[in-house]
Amino acid sequence: MSRKTVRDYIRTIPDFPHEGILFRDVTTLFADARGMRLCVDQLLDPYAGQRIDAVAGLEARGFILGGAIAHQLGTGFVPIRKKGKLPGPTFAQDYALEYGQATVEVHRDALPAGARVLLVDDLLATGGTARAGIALLERLGCEVMGCAFVIDLPDLGGRKALEAMGMELHTLCS
Ligand code: 5GP
Repeated sequence: MSRKTVRDYIRTIPDFPHEGILFRDVTTLFADARGMRLCVDQLLDPYAGQRIDAVAGLEARGFILGGAIAHQLGTGFVPIRKKGKLPGPTFAQDYALEYGQATVEVHRDALPAGARVLLVDDLLATGGTARAGIALLERLGCEVMGCAFVIDLPDLGGRKALEAMGMELHTLCS
């Protein structure tokens, strides 16, 4: 009997959130006990034996994965949130969307300078969100040890952009 891979648990929804967009839906992966465990274990795999002080997750699906990974590593979890959601003083970083721009924020006191952080999200497309998250972590003085994503959409250039910055990337399917 062949066992399902992470990719097999992900479904594609056409025309969401706009006509012509194929949305990769990971709720079916997260809802399945085996799928969830498989993807968390595989995201963690390359970091075994490395010193990771904290996991940072990008809103919103990066919170689900990041919390599970932090628990497994025995570290804390830091949310990188959309503008206006965090209650304390923040650093903010703007980034470009296909149409317009967006802003993400992190608490200024989220982590001590020098902390070694793993950044997590569900999907890498243009890399704009991840680059904004990295910029925020670097403003905190943290060292980004790696970026882990379930899905890579290589045609959208995110992988190239992050690799050009010297980032260590780990993705489970494309
Ligand atoms: P990027 O900034 O790399 O262009 O886009 C990645 C961000 O958009 C991630 O935070 C990701 O959650 C979200 N995203 C964009 N397209 C999709 C998609 O098809 N499926 C999912 N699950 N997330 C997406």
